Amino acid sequence: MDIAIRMDDITPDMDWESFLSMKEILDTAGIKPLIGIVPDNKDKMLKCGEMHTDFWQQIRQLQQQGWSIAMHGYQHLYETRQGGLFPLNHFSEFAGLSYEIQYEKLKKGKEILEKNGIGTNLFMAPGHSYDKNTLRALVELGFTYVTDGFGYQPYHYKGITFLPIAYHSRKSIRKKGEKITTLVYHMNGSTPEQIQEIRRLFAEEDLKFISYSNLLQKPPVHPGCCMRLLEYGGATAKHYLVVARSWIKKLTRNNK
Ligand SMILES: [Zn+2]
Repeated sequence: MDIAIRMDDITPDMDWESFLSMKEILDTAGIKPLIGIVPDNKDKMLKCGEMHTDFWQQIRQLQQQGWSIAMHGYQHLYETRQGGLFPLNHFSEFAGLSYEIQYEKLKKGKEILEKNGIGTNLFMAPGHSYDKNTLRALVELGFTYVTDGFGYQPYHYKGITFLPIAYHSRKSIRKKGEKITTLVYHMNGSTPEQIQEIRRLFAEEDLKFISYSNLLQKPPVHPGCCMRLLEYGGATAKHYLVVARSWIKKLTRNNK
């Protein structure tokens, strides 16, 4: 199993301390991840640290060093309550909006990245949610990869190559054979214990981590509708599992 790493919610005022701790772990392991940059962040939840005015310069440097860059939405504002084609969450910056509105948002995001010297053909949807109109607009704007979906091989759908993420991070990475997966990290607000846990994971000898650029080299398969249905079912199941868990947590807290 080849394991690639993706880091979401990269903004000029993110939690830099946690980001740099993760960078140090990755540098030590010689692994270059995928990072999802929000072109014009308006999501207050992602404002977790001091504003770094040299943000774009730092991102350009990381890209030159071989880090992969994805456009993580446009403003990271959830406008609809729809999960789209991959309903892990029932909210979205894109899914459910018209093609024209989605195209405009994506175009503006791409222009901001390009104005700051970042070119990319990789897209990372906030909340993992996108629909057919998102994919159509992405193709129109020259995007060829989306980091999302379930499965153990990159696959081709609607003109885009999907690079699957782990269904169950602890279990998925231990599967045997010629497979790939992506571990998703949201570093904002990470505790020292969580950082230590990541450090331990990278120290495990039987796990094989790869740079994200290696993942992009793997040829995509063409999934049948059965695989797409399984993926949709898996995302729906996972969504309700997470909802149920948070209810159980709340109930146990209230009963104490
Ligand atoms: Zn995000």
